[in-house]
Amino acid sequence: MRSQSIADSRMTKREFLNLCGASFCAVCAPGLLAFPQTSRAQMAKKGLIRTKLSPYFTSLDGGEIQCGLCPRRCRISPGKRGFCRVRENRDGKLYSLVYGNPCVIQLDPIEKEPFFHVLPGSKSLTISTAGCSFQCKFCENWEISQAFPEDVYSYEVSPETMVKRAVQMGARSLAYTYAEPTVFLEYMLEVSSHAKGAGLLNLIHSNGFINPAPLRDLCRVLDAAHIDLKGFSETFYRELCSGELAPVLDTMKFLKAEHIHLEITNLVIPSKNDGMATLREMFLWIKRELGADTPLHLSRFYPRHKLKKLPSTPISTQEKARETALSCGLQYVYIGKVPGHEGWNTFCPHCGKMIIQRTGYMIGEMHIDEGRCAYCGHPVPGIWEWG
Ligand code: SF4
Repeated sequence: MRSQSIADSRMTKREFLNLCGASFCAVCAPGLLAFPQTSRAQMAKKGLIRTKLSPYFTSLDGGEIQCGLCPRRCRISPGKRGFCRVRENRDGKLYSLVYGNPCVIQLDPIEKEPFFHVLPGSKSLTISTAGCSFQCKFCENWEISQAFPEDVYSYEVSPETMVKRAVQMGARSLAYTYAEPTVFLEYMLEVSSHAKGAGLLNLIHSNGFINPAPLRDLCRVLDAAHIDLKGFSETFYRELCSGELAPVLDTMKFLKAEHIHLEITNLVIPSKNDGMATLREMFLWIKRELGADTPLHLSRFYPRHKLKKLPSTPISTQEKARETALSCGLQYVYIGKVPGHEGWNTFCPHCGKMIIQRTGYMIGEMHIDEGRCAYCGHPVPGIWEWG
């Protein structure tokens, strides 16, 4: 599940395309992938499966294997797939089924990911394949996250080509997002390694459900991570996501220890995770374990997938949650998916002045010099200069 859907529901398709400059999405219908400066266009195809041997498994008796990529640790019988639908036991080995077959390739504003403290105003080439290690009832991208790879329209793009095109399109970063990027780790690692060579940043927006060994591999190429902290109880994770909270918290602590820039989104869902006492507990945990300067996005829920009967989050609930987070000592707390709201902007926690003003996904004013508030010199966490 992503806190940002592939196409923002509050924009018309035309507005969205105008804003992004380019958009290629093969979720529900075949699209034409025509990177600029190339005469070669490619139609997305249904049924593409390109395999890659995964190093993240152990062999068990009887040809069974155990996937070690995420804490679910699926035991997979010969010919069967794991919970995420995109990793299969073939002849006693684990294969990724989505290597080089993204079903989404979009040039997005980086603010859409949503990274608010990474190269503001820049463009990011965003990539997703089918598959997810969770089954969130509120998933905004369930059409791909809960799909088998052969059921979506995908492109065939090598890591080298992806990065070349990102450079040609003017992207400053690659963002692995939308469904769950950890399930296409083998592809992500190779694209990331080429991206690093080309001077681009690597960003991930993830559920954070990944084991330490693959996370260590990822951190070697990663510059920034956005983790969805979907709630703050194991019950919530179990009942609404078919997941677990504890490994997600461990992932965030690991990322922080590795000095990877970290932002967090909490989707505030009416009656499910909007209790102020639990939110307060979460805010205090973030402050204690990750630091008061960790940017937090309190995002708005819209009725989706299996929670269509719930109302959208009242903005007043997001505002109350933001006030609570600020009173707990968090310094950068955003109101997500309410463009135009004051909480969409960045304020210096020291002098209180607005240092980044956003209009939708565009940057109006920015008053940050060399990573510091231009008014008072207070350091602002993030990646402000690159290349
Ligand atoms: S990555 Fe997929 S196959 Fe591997 S343990 Fe997680 S859900 Fe199972």
